[in-house]
Amino acid sequence: MTEHYDVVVVGGGLLGCLTAWMAARDGARVLLVDKDQVNQHASGRNAGSLHFQLEYRMVEAGEEAARIAAEAMPLHLDAADMWACLEGEIGEPFGVRQTGGLMVAENADEVRVLEFKAELERGWGLDVRTLDRTELDGFAPYLSRDIVAANFSPLEGKADARTAAPAVGRAAVAAGAAILTRTRLADAHRTVQGWDLTLRETGRTGDEWARTVHTAAVVVAAGVWTTEVGRIFGAVLPTIPLALLMTVTSKVPRFIPHLVQHAGARLSLKQTLDNTVLIGGGWPARLMTDANGAPAFDVKPQLLPQSIAGNARAAVAAVPAVARIPALRSWVGTTTVAPDQLPLVGAVKDAPGVFVATGGSAFTLGPSFARVLAGLLAGASPDIDIRPYSPSRFAERICA
Ligand SMILES: Cc1cc2nc3c(=O)[nH]c(=O)nc-3n(C[C@H](O)[C@H](O)[C@H](O)COP(=O)(O)OP(=O)(O)OC[C@H]3O[C@@H](n4cnc5c(N)ncnc54)[C@H](O)[C@@H]3O)c2cc1C
Repeated sequence: MTEHYDVVVVGGGLLGCLTAWMAARDGARVLLVDKDQVNQHASGRNAGSLHFQLEYRMVEAGEEAARIAAEAMPLHLDAADMWACLEGEIGEPFGVRQTGGLMVAENADEVRVLEFKAELERGWGLDVRTLDRTELDGFAPYLSRDIVAANFSPLEGKADARTAAPAVGRAAVAAGAAILTRTRLADAHRTVQGWDLTLRETGRTGDEWARTVHTAAVVVAAGVWTTEVGRIFGAVLPTIPLALLMTVTSKVPRFIPHLVQHAGARLSLKQTLDNTVLIGGGWPARLMTDANGAPAFDVKPQLLPQSIAGNARAAVAAVPAVARIPALRSWVGTTTVAPDQLPLVGAVKDAPGVFVATGGSAFTLGPSFARVLAGLLAGASPDIDIRPYSPSRFAERICA
């Protein structure tokens, strides 16, 4: 007999777990499926930075690109509020600390970037101010003397990427959602009342079997697989895949209370609640490809030694004491951005009842994405203007 759901969520990363939790809390019959395990991919491998300032990748291409990226600021502000309450609502801790974040500058050009960026962000309502060298002496004595200024936003911080999505997944189950892991969405057929989905489950010995479920609505929370899952619904959802590097050091007494980014280099750096230092910021790893040259997201990307070295140099240049802390481990994860750096959030065109969110710092923005999606599932109009994030904006441009 075919099982019936109000919502099937495809993807058990942070976004999928949050959306399943919110929809189940709203009274929907929810099934979440993941082809692997909950939190196995980007949501469990990322830096856990809560970025509410624009990031280096958004300002490096110039002021116009930064202005476009800043159109996501309503989501940043919403997410900042949501992270502040999330552990309380979920009922378990997962390392959320909003103790502020700095974007640092080493020269006059970078200071100009900071000033432009702060003005832009303040225009959108973000609390951010520029600190000069004298202020930094007392505020962030761990920074290099070469840092001449920094933008500070008190909302920024971190959460533990290893524990956040699993905690939210447990809350979703407690709220009534069902979760099936090792279960891939393989196919979808439109019916009068929604969608018949073909799910392929993989057993521990590698044997596969299929089941069909019926659902009124589908949420695509598939991270780097979004484009591929979109095709199942006949949708064009362009995303750019990125394989990125992370490095963690051994534990040292706590000395970095802030999230640190750089206005002129790829860097994110923070000290975790375990007292390790987590270093990332967008250094690439090599995405693997299949026999046809298409990206193979299920194959582990390759670490690039030059990225490990470049990231370490950027970290030491900003926080010299990092040079004396042994690095323990480097790893990679795969994520996605949209061509204009704005996320994709909303209803999927020509696929009634199908909704999607992805793109950019979707760990930070996950709570806000999920709140918008849960509202759309409940038939409510979002209180954030989501038109700039329309998932069909690229398809519309291509067809125009
Ligand atoms: C190294 C690195 C560092 C990062 N640092 C940060 C950071 O500090 N701050 C920040 O905000 N963001 C960061 N990001 C980005 C962030 O991790 C991602 O944007 C976010 O985790 C995406 O979450 P998600 O739930 O949408 O996707 P994912 O966590 O990727 O989950 C998608 C899930 O969908 C499942 N899936 C895919 N296709 C199917 C299918 N057909 N059927 C069933 N299941 C399917 C996958 O198995 C996967 O588990 C970083 C990313 C990387 C890689």
